[in-house]
Amino acid sequence: IEKSRETANPAAESSPRPGADKHQDKVTSEKKLCVKAAKEHSIPEDLNKVLENKVLEKVLDLSHVKLSVVEMTCLGDADSEGIVSKSVSSHSDLIPGVYEGGLKIWECTFDLIDYFSEAEIEFTNKTVLDLGCGAGLLGIVALRGKADSVHFQDYNSTVIDEITLPNVVANCIDDGSKMGSGKDRKASKPPSKRPRKSEGSPDMLNKCRFFSGEWSQVSQLLSSTKAFPKYDIILTSETIYNPDYYSALHDTLAQLLDKNGRVYLASKVHYFGVGGGTYLFEKFIEEKNVFRTSIIKTIDQGLQRCIMEIAFKDSC
Ligand code: SAM
Repeated sequence: IEKSRETANPAAESSPRPGADKHQDKVTSEKKLCVKAAKEHSIPEDLNKVLENKVLEKVLDLSHVKLSVVEMTCLGDADSEGIVSKSVSSHSDLIPGVYEGGLKIWECTFDLIDYFSEAEIEFTNKTVLDLGCGAGLLGIVALRGKADSVHFQDYNSTVIDEITLPNVVANCIDDGSKMGSGKDRKASKPPSKRPRKSEGSPDMLNKCRFFSGEWSQVSQLLSSTKAFPKYDIILTSETIYNPDYYSALHDTLAQLLDKNGRVYLASKVHYFGVGGGTYLFEKFIEEKNVFRTSIIKTIDQGLQRCIMEIAFKDSC
């Protein structure tokens, strides 16, 4: 995983570029035809396996929460679904089909995490969805904030298996300790045996579910689940770059958000080369007349970015 806060060149890398650049035309036309089916990913029994071949690193510059991030080791001749390298240009070669940018952590994720802390957003007992999660840092912060449940969604199943799940597992284990098997997850250690100052706990994994697929498909899958609870909070970062997806995104939010729920959306004001951005999405939402929006924070360093709150028009 790259941490864009450290490495991004905003001018060159402001926009997720789905698919390989050299095949852009082909990818764009395939994209219109291709609606990726939704799938739930189960949490493997042996959690140690999830972290095999992964390099863990602490993100140090988040003031209020220490998160681990998983980096994949590049083994060279890995199979096409397996390995994530650190080079941006090769990401798309490592995922078959359309790739939507989930292998790297985009800078608006950090904006949103900063905002949670400044605004003291309360996750306790909330049902949360990290939509277009990539590495899943937003959901992990919610999990650590004692959310009741956190669901993670990414377009690409490779991202869920190789990045999101390992990252959540890494953040649910205690520093330096090894995980037990999935079966042990419910049997938590007595408090006296738990390492002090630990923010993670294997029990947190029981609150998580993982989904891949295109938004409308995931939304259908979730809504068809018996006793599906709508989400109190939907978190989404750098997901409005492509106006072609606005309709699916809007309808997914409308279908999955609780009537009094809130969406926190972080985005660049404009995505060069792709065309989407904050104001275009706001306009789209306004025209649909289902939600109200407000820009709750603007960030002016580098490329201008915003955090938007979205709620149903008739919500309290
Ligand atoms: N939220 C992460 C971050 O900020 O680091 C990842 C952002 S990445 C640029 C965009 C994410 O949105 C991808 O992870 C992708 O899975 C998701 N996404 C974009 N378009 C999608 C679509 N039409 N259906 C489902 N997921 C989509």
